[in-house]
Amino acid sequence: MMPKIELHLHLEGAAPPAFIRGLAKEKHVDISGIFDERGNYVYNGFEEFLAVYEAATSVLQTPDDFARLVTAVLDQSAEQGVIYSETFLSPDFCGNADVAAWREYLHAMQEAADRAERLNGITLRGIVTAIRHFGPERAKPVALCAAETVGGFITGFGIAGAELMGRPRDFAYSFDLAREAGLRLTAHAGEWGGPDMVADTIRDLGVERIGHGINAIKDLALCEQIAEAGITLEVCPGSNVALGAVKGWKHHPIRKLRERGVRVTVSTDDPPFFHTTMTREYQMLAEVLGFEDEELMDMNRIALEAAFCDPETRARIAKKLEPAT
Ligand SMILES: [Zn+2]
Repeated sequence: MMPKIELHLHLEGAAPPAFIRGLAKEKHVDISGIFDERGNYVYNGFEEFLAVYEAATSVLQTPDDFARLVTAVLDQSAEQGVIYSETFLSPDFCGNADVAAWREYLHAMQEAADRAERLNGITLRGIVTAIRHFGPERAKPVALCAAETVGGFITGFGIAGAELMGRPRDFAYSFDLAREAGLRLTAHAGEWGGPDMVADTIRDLGVERIGHGINAIKDLALCEQIAEAGITLEVCPGSNVALGAVKGWKHHPIRKLRERGVRVTVSTDDPPFFHTTMTREYQMLAEVLGFEDEELMDMNRIALEAAFCDPETRARIAKKLEPAT
């Protein structure tokens, strides 16, 4: 199995449905309405997806719940050949964005990640993530949580959620705070928003990576700018197809972006919600869009270059990605 680097994975969004059902049972919470008869997450469209996502997340309450989640998610990723992963962590869901509470959650999650690294050989880093539809004021304490815990495990700051709420500049304060603390920056843009949203995100938030960014393809001058600036797109094709951001795999612009010289990478976003895995993403890219193994490996190399880890970790992972023969 090809080793894989994944940059765009929401921790709660990667929660296996069976794990969430088990927690709901333990806590006597009834969220049976978010599952279909086969036990998979069920929803219709992006708004409902966010509602189901929040319902599933509601059973994740204590630091221990999140530690168990990290273990379940990393087991799942390691099975797909993922050797390095970056995950979005939301202090809003971990102690209400209070720094002291956040430290407790983080400690528990980091311990679980260290354990998974020893057992499965998978390395995890965390990107603290504000939720866009909670608004710019709510993003500030989240950025503060990130700034207070930067280093080692926490390497980045980002924003996710409903992209069409507000403009990127509304969140500039939080991104400035995070940047000054030494965090690397990424933001979801150009999944639902047009190329203007991608351009504004780059200009106003100073990010080096964009989550999705696929609508940049609608503005070729912007593609050129992104390519020249060396900005990396965290592309999640299966997610885009499942939510209807693109019409289907055949219509996905990942190859066109790559041909324009844009640094594109492949991730799963919220895999069980989109009934996908890293293996399936690679399979579909090969079958539908004709990606060769060498191209998939090249996207892995790009992903590792764009990873927010320290140089020592990067060098260690590079040896696992391409063992000297
Ligand atoms: Zn995402």
